Amino acid sequence: MINLVWLKRDFRIQDHRPLHEACQNGKPILILYVIEPEYWQLPDTSARQFKFIKESLLSLSEQLQQLGGTLTVRKGDVVTILEKIHQHVAISTLYSHQETGNTWTFERDKRVIAWCKAKHVGYQEYRQQAVFRGKVNRDKWQEQADAWLQSDCFPPPAKVNALLHHHNGLELLNDYPGDDHNVASKPQIGGIKAAQQTLNSFFNHRINSYLFGISSPVKSVTSSSRLSPYLAYGVLSLKDVLQQAQVLSVESKRNKSGFLSRLYWHSHFVQKLESEPNYAEQAVHASLVAMRASEFNPERFALWSAGQTGVPFVDACMRMLIATGWINFRMRAMLMAFSSYHLWLDWQKPAARLANLFIDYEPGIHYPQVQMQSGTTGINPFRIYNPVTQGQKYDPDGHFIRRYLPELDHVPSGYIHTPWLYSGLKADVYCPPSILPDDAARAAREKISQFYKQHLDKDETGRVIVTHASRRRSNSRRKKRASTDKHQLKLF
Ligand SMILES: Cc1cc2nc3c(=O)[nH]c(=O)nc-3n(C[C@H](O)[C@H](O)[C@H](O)COP(=O)(O)OP(=O)(O)OC[C@H]3O[C@@H](n4cnc5c(N)ncnc54)[C@H](O)[C@@H]3O)c2cc1C
Repeated sequence: MINLVWLKRDFRIQDHRPLHEACQNGKPILILYVIEPEYWQLPDTSARQFKFIKESLLSLSEQLQQLGGTLTVRKGDVVTILEKIHQHVAISTLYSHQETGNTWTFERDKRVIAWCKAKHVGYQEYRQQAVFRGKVNRDKWQEQADAWLQSDCFPPPAKVNALLHHHNGLELLNDYPGDDHNVASKPQIGGIKAAQQTLNSFFNHRINSYLFGISSPVKSVTSSSRLSPYLAYGVLSLKDVLQQAQVLSVESKRNKSGFLSRLYWHSHFVQKLESEPNYAEQAVHASLVAMRASEFNPERFALWSAGQTGVPFVDACMRMLIATGWINFRMRAMLMAFSSYHLWLDWQKPAARLANLFIDYEPGIHYPQVQMQSGTTGINPFRIYNPVTQGQKYDPDGHFIRRYLPELDHVPSGYIHTPWLYSGLKADVYCPPSILPDDAARAAREKISQFYKQHLDKDETGRVIVTHASRRRSNSRRKKRASTDKHQLKLF
């Protein structure tokens, strides 16, 4: 009889409760990662994510060896692989972390649970974020989240009692099973060493310029924590990072950077997808499902996807994302909003394209953010960014644009944000947008106002607020505005 630890997005030994628990009763342990070809065919997955996972798994394998353990990799359908292992050596209990993923992983987890039940294999699943299974009462979420995030982390096991004499299968990581072979040219590297270096440099000095650089696609490259892929794939434990930040007092009361709040936002957003898995598939506000559905324009989508819309700041952001697999929050929001408002594209395909470019793809953050930025929650419907003024503010001299759009070399600086106004623009190397940004934004506002007037169900808006809005204690100014409410509702 063995214990099996099934790894999904938790490639670490520190604060790994499934590994910790599996080591408690002396049984041999099989630590398994399954490369699932069907998953890697999904449009929101990509070679760049696989590469990061591979690096993280190889690094984990080294750590496990030092504890006497082995990482085992297999390829195929998880249930089929579990069945094969079980026939060979009986699995007593399967230990894993709870995952809040896309619809595919949600259905796959249900099949694994059903298999365990049918085979009388124990199934133990543990939380790795402050996310609670199923629907939660949002009034109580913060309290529950606090209690969990402040609870003790689990230390790495002193020794792992490895299952001997089986092939580890690490070479399977050399073959990416998907079709999208587009890796980033300057990606973040996976594995615990890179994760710790990133964390240390952030806590030791980079955090001092965190807020100063957060909105700029250039400054945020070094001033943001850059922890997102390590948190998304569990190379670092969210709880551990939060507790380390508190112990080291990286944020003082007088110098609040907002970093700790963002670690809370991580779980706050994932909880939305956990409570309503449909978030990944359909507009969260039922009245808005049809708002853009009938008009998807594949050419506009292709231009946006390649960073060729003709609006330089938007295109430079997209090309940075293509090259590096990361961009800051504000520019993610602008890219998504630009596709939804200026290009009037329904959100699903752009959402999958962004997900597939993000090395740090975390479905629970991604889909709720995408729906907020495309105005399909029914709250704050006009999240329209002006891409020209954004560019002028965050890239005043146009260096960032020139770096990612070398074809604009011939355009003088005075026109770098609006090349369509420059009479010498070589339209064969950089084609201006078919609709200018101001006109496109005006048209989107008009369409949304009309749609809202005709179709918006206010009861449904109420349901979205009750289910998904975060609750914050009202301050005195807000109290005046909402005197009857003890809590102010705010959708992040
Ligand atoms: C359309 C859109 C899609 C997004 N998709 C993802 C995604 O797939 N994966 C992802 O990790 N983040 C996503 N974000 C949130 C955010 O942009 C990134 O977390 C952040 O830019 C990562 O960089 P960082 O680690 O340096 O962040 P920091 O600012 O240093 O924040 C630290 C950590 O807090 C969390 N965090 C930060 N901002 C947010 C936020 N707004 N909501 C929830 N958690 C947050 C992340 O885990 C992040 O690593 C998305 C945002 C938008 C607008």
